[in-house]
Amino acid sequence: MDPLEHASIPGLIYLALSGEPTLTGLAALIIGAVFPDLDVLAEEHRSYLHSLLPFLPALLLGLHLGGPFLLFALGWGSHLFLDFFTGVVPVVYPLSRRGWGLSITVAGPRDFRIEIKLIERYPERRHDYRLEIGGSAALALLTTLTAIIRLH
Ligand SMILES: [Zn+2]
Repeated sequence: MDPLEHASIPGLIYLALSGEPTLTGLAALIIGAVFPDLDVLAEEHRSYLHSLLPFLPALLLGLHLGGPFLLFALGWGSHLFLDFFTGVVPVVYPLSRRGWGLSITVAGPRDFRIEIKLIERYPERRHDYRLEIGGSAALALLTTLTAIIRLH
């Protein structure tokens, strides 16, 4: 999942569900939502900031402090939740590199079936990549337009 999707999905949920969304709140949520991908600077993507070990204390601190701190932690949590469906999340990195995720496959239309599998493996090592972000850019544009409408 690319950073535009990570930013847009929780952003849209915040804009839809918050009674009085604020730009500060939206910014805190989005920064938290893309924050774990700073792992690309580490030796492997999906490592330290994709682990529950730093996330859970940050969530507890966010629950204690509230406001933008809580929204930052919720954004971070949304990133881990979304990554769980697009690969594996190494829940106790660096104690273990082993990660877990959920693979959902839909096949059809003949012999229609939905396969749901828990996957367990090590995250892939960092590598250069090229993303096709057309759909993500559309989602980000929709989020921006929704923010303009909701934050005026
Ligand atoms: Zn990630």
